[in-house]
Amino acid sequence: MERPVCSVIVPVYFEEEVICETYKRLKTVMEGTGESYEIIFVNDGSRDRTKELALEICANDKTVKLIDFSRNFGHQNAITAGMNNSSGQCVVVIDADLQDPPEVIPKMIAKWREGYDIVYGKRVKREGETAFKKVTAKAFYRILDKMTEVDIPVDTGDFRLIDRKVCDALKNDISERNRYVRGIVSWLGFKAAPVEFVREKRFAGETKYPLKKMIKFAGDAIMSFSYKPLRWALIFGLPLGAVSLISLIVMIILTACGVLAPVAGWSLIAISCVFGCTAMVLIALGIIGEYVARTYDEAKDRPLYVINEKINFDD
Ligand code: UDP
Ligand code: MG
Repeated sequence: MERPVCSVIVPVYFEEEVICETYKRLKTVMEGTGESYEIIFVNDGSRDRTKELALEICANDKTVKLIDFSRNFGHQNAITAGMNNSSGQCVVVIDADLQDPPEVIPKMIAKWREGYDIVYGKRVKREGETAFKKVTAKAFYRILDKMTEVDIPVDTGDFRLIDRKVCDALKNDISERNRYVRGIVSWLGFKAAPVEFVREKRFAGETKYPLKKMIKFAGDAIMSFSYKPLRWALIFGLPLGAVSLISLIVMIILTACGVLAPVAGWSLIAISCVFGCTAMVLIALGIIGEYVARTYDEAKDRPLYVINEKINFDD
């Protein structure tokens, strides 16, 4: 089969309320480009009617394909599966909930035609999201930027277009788990340009990124691209150790000389110091643990995802 010009990848997780509308809007936009295309839905283990609806769409439209996971493997792995099974000369990743407007895709394709290998969607404004999400997202992108050497553009999600060669580099050379796809794409290099857009309100349904997943995702992003947290223990520990050693010596001398009299309530001070220091040690251990766990995931070498079935693919 001939390569389509554009593959559009849409991860779906409990999206029964949006998938039909998303398909309709994407279809209209892609037909409007006049380019050949394929739309790949990746069902990330939804247990509502998402798969059923996707199957109906696939039965009526052969340009639509479906990859169905055996269970939930997460957004980033769903995107990866879509990329690995795509054949387009360029690949666009878009959320299913229409927060990323499909109408931006033709602009991305135009930039790609100008010769850019990566065209990322830059959110200039976010509509209909909670203040908490806006504040944490804004802070997260800036902290990540400070902590990493790789230049990952701020305020960009996975809504982006990548050229076939970028997609192949990702597919063939990158196998890491707990991945932060947009960071890896930046790490790969290539010529990149932004396209600005307003991130819209979710069309229907609830976010599939509750706080727990957001924290895990932020941890993956930081730990995949920075060793700085590992160094915090040293940065805080060394001066703290020096201060405590010096004060110990000073106190012994002063007590021996009779200058320092025992203070009432000293045990309380001692206890709070012990708690404080123990907490710092535990936090440092916890940070190391997070890196070790991720290293262990790599050592186990399990696949990133398991596919239950593929629909409308030639192979
Ligand atoms: N998603 C997924 N697997 C998950 C969580 C989310 O495939 O475990 C998909 C979801 O269906 C959507 C996209 O990832 O297409 C982004 O999720 P969502 O819109 O809920 O995140 P938010 O925009 O609130 O950050
Ligand atoms: Mg969303």
